[in-house]
Amino acid sequence: MATARADRLARALGPWFVQHQRDLEWRRTRDPYAIWVSEVMLQQTRVDTVKAYWTPFMRQFPDIATLAAADEQHVLAAWSGLGYYRRARLLHQGARHVNTTLGGSLPVTPDLLRTIPGIGRYTAGAIASIAHDSPHALVDGNVARVLSRLQAITDPKQQLPDAAGHWSMAQQILEAGSPRVLAQALMELGATVCTPKLPRCGECPVRGECLALARDLVAEIPTPKQRAPSPQQDLWALGLRRQGKLLLIRRPAEGLLAGMWSLPLLGRPAAAPEAPHGSLFDRARPTLAAIRTATGLRVLKPEVLREPIKHVFTHRVWILWPARAEVEPTDLSDESGTTIGEHAWIAPGQRPLGGIPTVTEKLLERLGY
Ligand code: SF4
Repeated sequence: MATARADRLARALGPWFVQHQRDLEWRRTRDPYAIWVSEVMLQQTRVDTVKAYWTPFMRQFPDIATLAAADEQHVLAAWSGLGYYRRARLLHQGARHVNTTLGGSLPVTPDLLRTIPGIGRYTAGAIASIAHDSPHALVDGNVARVLSRLQAITDPKQQLPDAAGHWSMAQQILEAGSPRVLAQALMELGATVCTPKLPRCGECPVRGECLALARDLVAEIPTPKQRAPSPQQDLWALGLRRQGKLLLIRRPAEGLLAGMWSLPLLGRPAAAPEAPHGSLFDRARPTLAAIRTATGLRVLKPEVLREPIKHVFTHRVWILWPARAEVEPTDLSDESGTTIGEHAWIAPGQRPLGGIPTVTEKLLERLGY
């Protein structure tokens, strides 16, 4: 039940959102499927990035049936560059689940929505409230920060998006007006005004209700996270060429960049010396035997490019050292001479069907492909 405070917050947030919301294409639809796609894309991804992907994706897969019938490689290709490809796979699996077991339409209630692969409590709340204007709370990092500050919550555990107090407060706010408007208002306030650093409290529609502002605690909430540095892994990124074409391999179905196209990667000893200044060659290089073991190919002496490429995942950092090598001419007749499963030989500018992650694109660019 909405409390008097939730009522006051709802009365301030609703009109503010209507007047100040950003004009985003997915906000012009009430189609639950379209909202589902937007919410999945927006997880851990900036709005500006999603803007470039949502419309083309919806054009290619305009409804659940089309997405369900699509080949996974086409779905991953449409997702290429957005990152966190597991989301695309789950969305695809979810569409197939809806098509085969739920009659082709997304259910309305959050409980049923959560039976679909990839739809958790947050996404179910987003679809129910935004598409159906039904009061089902959703709390992400932005909303958790707003609610933590509004209530001057100083306990780091109670500041997290899964804290029960946040879900209860958000629920009360949604019940005090239009859930569609208020759910988006809370998210928008966190994204544009009540930002992690330097929130614009002077422009905030709920500053009169904000206990953190009243108690001068805005800068302390949320409590800064003590993050352990992500483990770093040094890898050779092998640019293996055969008759002008470069080898790409499909990554395993599990793990980082699962199922995506990549150069063959090999562990690089952490103590390997850096390239001497101004040289194209590193003193250390992947051994021919290691390349042969990893790919089944015999290659000529590799040439190591000087600058590595750094790629940061959520919990891991890759330092990728591009090393190019020609496949031995004697190996040319052996087209299937790799032991690495699905692979493709590409000409410059050519790309195989399926997901090409940003890190692969960077490496291809470095290698002139
Ligand atoms: Fe956030 Fe400042 Fe508004 Fe409080 S007054 S909710 S800290 S923007």
